[in-house]
Amino acid sequence: MSSRPASPKLWENFETLLAEFRRDPVTSGIFTDFDGTISEIAPSYGGARIIPEAREVLTGLAEAYPLYIVSGRMATDVAALVGIPGIVYIGVHGLEWLDREAMEARPDPRVAPFGEAVRNAAVRLESEPLLAQHALVLENKVWMLGIHWRPAVEAGGPPETLAGIAKGIAREVAASAGLKVREGRMVVELMPPVEANKGTGVQHFILRDKLERALYAGDDRTDIDVFTQLAQLEREAGFKNLRVAVSSAEAPAELIEKAHVVLPEPAWVAPFLRPLLA
Ligand SMILES: [Mg+2]
Repeated sequence: MSSRPASPKLWENFETLLAEFRRDPVTSGIFTDFDGTISEIAPSYGGARIIPEAREVLTGLAEAYPLYIVSGRMATDVAALVGIPGIVYIGVHGLEWLDREAMEARPDPRVAPFGEAVRNAAVRLESEPLLAQHALVLENKVWMLGIHWRPAVEAGGPPETLAGIAKGIAREVAASAGLKVREGRMVVELMPPVEANKGTGVQHFILRDKLERALYAGDDRTDIDVFTQLAQLEREAGFKNLRVAVSSAEAPAELIEKAHVVLPEPAWVAPFLRPLLA
């Protein structure tokens, strides 16, 4: 595979780790992001579809390994898009999860007390005239709210002005509701003031399911939190892990730097994981 790590030492470790996965699948966790990792980046948010080969390989892997899909989408939404039973869906960037066989998603216990604060902030934002006036789009993910300005920019609006307006509203509403603000690509998010992200979500399941090693594949900024968490577990507790970055024109440099393996595009993920089936 042309994506083999530059360092032969790393490659050797990689082969050893894959052998360990196959030998003891029950304590080997496979975690993957959805958008841009096992789906192609879609022209529209609602248009994302899992790559058929990824569905086939992941369905097989789910029979042997603990498998987790980790997404910024709501857990039930990503579960509907992936459609593989018997796996854990970690949603809203680690703020909630839909457990195996569970009927509904539950928040991280530290996030749960802020449900009312997020609802209050949503009510305020829904009646904020500046949002409609500037075609800013409010996204409500129950535990997190997003104000998006990409659609307004695509419609010809001035990016910096729109960003300033969105961030100003977000800061004001977050401060009065007791939430924190996080900035993303053409989005500003209001969320509970706790350290919860994809990394803490993955760590929760590593501990709960008593995993001894893990693989994580992701393509974006929020996946860096997982790479950082895994690197820390490795340093502090010798936890073995394999960090797989899926590259793209928009891939953050830090994600690539912290990865053991870099795959050129989402279509490479299923062939990369397939040897774990053997
Ligand atoms: Mg992604």
